[in-house]
Amino acid sequence: MSNLSVHSFKYMGIPVEYTLKRKKVKNINIHINEKCMITVSASERTPVGDIKSFVESKAEWIMRSMASIERYNLTKPDNEIYTGKKLYLLGRQYTAEIRQSDCKKIQVCGDTITIYTDDAGDTDKVKKLYADFLREKALEVFPAVLNDMYVKMKAEGIPEPVLKIRNMKTRWGTCNIKTDVITLNLQLIKTDIDCIRQVAAHELTHFIVHDHGSGFYSILEKYVPDWKELKKTMDTKYKDGI
Ligand SMILES: [Zn+2]
Repeated sequence: MSNLSVHSFKYMGIPVEYTLKRKKVKNINIHINEKCMITVSASERTPVGDIKSFVESKAEWIMRSMASIERYNLTKPDNEIYTGKKLYLLGRQYTAEIRQSDCKKIQVCGDTITIYTDDAGDTDKVKKLYADFLREKALEVFPAVLNDMYVKMKAEGIPEPVLKIRNMKTRWGTCNIKTDVITLNLQLIKTDIDCIRQVAAHELTHFIVHDHGSGFYSILEKYVPDWKELKKTMDTKYKDGI
């Protein structure tokens, strides 16, 4: 016999459904996931009536939690790719169009990025195809930007950097002073050239001043006077969640 059962109650006329899961727990627990699905866990020994009245006594809290989850879901960038989705590339906004095809390719035309795939229903495949496309673009752009900045800053006595590109969650770039490797976030390809320059200069400056302490920003400012505005732009704009 399944240890799951579905129950519901009404809160101010609104039906609320939850799944009751019987398991070895001491108390009655209510869990609401990111899709607003409610799971209640309780031991086999707890009478259904007790569980029901406990859950209903928490109705207001449940409704409040679900409302805040929904609010959060509306504001966070969705990380899916689908026709109509807004995408960024080199500071410009595009609309994605996904087409079923017997070839796999991505075409940028006007304001549209068309993704041709042999399996349009497989979003993971489409995402992977798009990530490969972004990497290709990044390889066309990042080396030249980093090198230009290096040539400008060479006189500061910095080593020639080795470029690596990685998809990173929290940082635009990193600098390893031991190996001379500068890693640029693949996501940077969505921002404009000035933003990419700003990050390249920032990481190159770390060869001279390792932290963000004394002197760091005065050096950076020499090469990118408007780094602050650029940083602000890139931290708020150009996020498409892909
Ligand atoms: Zn830094």
